[in-house]
Amino acid sequence: MESRRPDGLPDRLRHYIGGELVDSLSGATFEVLDPITNQPYLTAAAGRAEDVDRAVAAARAAFTDGPWPGMVPRQRAAILTKIADLVAAQDQRLAELETYDTGLPITQALGQAQRAAENFRFFADLIVAQSDDTFQVPGRQLNYVHRKPVGVAGLITPWNTPFMLESWKLAPALAAGCTVILKPAEFTPLSAGLWAEIFTEAGVPHGVFNLVNGLGEEAGDALVTHPDVPLISFTGESATGQTIFSRAAPRLKGLSMELGGKSPAVVFADADLDAAIDSTLFGVFSLNGERCTAGSRILIERTVYDEFCTRYAERAGKIIVGDPTDPATEVGTLVHPEHCAKVLGFIEQGRSEGRLLAGGGRPPGLEQGNFVAPTVFADVGPEAKIFTEEIFGPVVTLTPFDTEEEALTLANAVRYGLAAYLWTRDLERGHTFAHRVEAGMVWLNSHNVRDLRTPFGGIKASGLGQEGGYRSLDFYSHQQAVHVSLGPVHTPRFGARS
Ligand code: NAD
Repeated sequence: MESRRPDGLPDRLRHYIGGELVDSLSGATFEVLDPITNQPYLTAAAGRAEDVDRAVAAARAAFTDGPWPGMVPRQRAAILTKIADLVAAQDQRLAELETYDTGLPITQALGQAQRAAENFRFFADLIVAQSDDTFQVPGRQLNYVHRKPVGVAGLITPWNTPFMLESWKLAPALAAGCTVILKPAEFTPLSAGLWAEIFTEAGVPHGVFNLVNGLGEEAGDALVTHPDVPLISFTGESATGQTIFSRAAPRLKGLSMELGGKSPAVVFADADLDAAIDSTLFGVFSLNGERCTAGSRILIERTVYDEFCTRYAERAGKIIVGDPTDPATEVGTLVHPEHCAKVLGFIEQGRSEGRLLAGGGRPPGLEQGNFVAPTVFADVGPEAKIFTEEIFGPVVTLTPFDTEEEALTLANAVRYGLAAYLWTRDLERGHTFAHRVEAGMVWLNSHNVRDLRTPFGGIKASGLGQEGGYRSLDFYSHQQAVHVSLGPVHTPRFGARS
């Protein structure tokens, strides 16, 4: 299959530092592959410590000397809203670039572009409506929270939905008044190149937004260890999160970590089975299965297990895999040959750990590129690697259970705790199970539909801290307590005795 190259594609990406597009000081570059041919189509500047130093200096100057942190919320909100409008106005273009770079199906990439615009609109609204606490001790004290941006925030993002996930960090960081350095994933740097133009057109002052492309171990690490970057918001693998945690520890940085997942979808016999099948198919196979909140372990009550397996596998076998730019495509191509090999390795492993019901490797006729057929394994036990490890591809396990307790044990049997999806018509069971399941987020009778005001984040190996709504703004802000005395304060008079 030939890739459909979008018009006007750049063949070179540079950093964006202090309002200028620049190459790496060393001249180093790295190549980016098109995920259908796996041929390099783009060269990007590979940032190293000295480039990060430059970006931090620009961001620091914009923070200490520029207008951004001190603007009244309405001013910043107006610029953020303009960013949202500019993103929304080019959603088709964005989707085209994102699809070309990541292999995501075009219809889903379009949804992600629209969500990116919404993220900016949401945080613009939030800062205008924001209030902070005051506490009174009648006649004695008035105490209030003085909120101020922390400083230069380092934002490190993954490749699965690059532009949207970048917006999920950029919007609250900028809304809070921080200046930022974005380090996008090296597999997919293309769409991040659009931010510079969008921010400039929206009126973001130079130096407030900076972009350094590069490898995680170089540019990412330089950001994590930089003394003038007090905050790191990271989304990526749990193992990378552990490395960043240890590298940031000597400087006691603020960290927000959105990490991996292996989320259960629990289907009880009383569920609306039609809806559960639709939703759990979408929940794991959308975004090519490269979705942190994928419900990739489906636990099914035994009385409906056989029916569920048969119907689920039949539908999975009919999912349209193919050209990501075709609007009919439901699963496109995985992002990179290395990742594809990893997913195919899990599928081979799965052959001895479960009963293959659908897929099982490359789809027929798509031998080139990173295509993987939606793959379903049934009868998978909790010891299996394909049950415990995050695969991050179009692979799902089906496991039966007999009792609610057994379902809970299975649901909690992995080291991750990002999301859980529960399917039951029994409201009491839905709530009590939700409270006991080890997951940062639970959806009852639904796949992942976000309300941006709610906390987003995982527990256990899935993350540290939560973003979403005011929690995101809190991460990027200091909440200073100012205590004002309203009268004489009782003070023991040290040294006043004769
Ligand atoms: P990754 O951890 O390999 O890379 C993520 C980012 O970290 C990239 O920009 C990379 O360059 C950078 N990086 C790598 N090593 C680094 C280091 N030593 N220091 C600093 N930065 C470093 O993750 P990925 O493969 O790009 O993304 C997939 C993972 O992301 C999956 O585990 C998925 O579950 C997770 N994810 C989580 C969420 C969430 O919200 N919880 C959302 C999307 C993706």
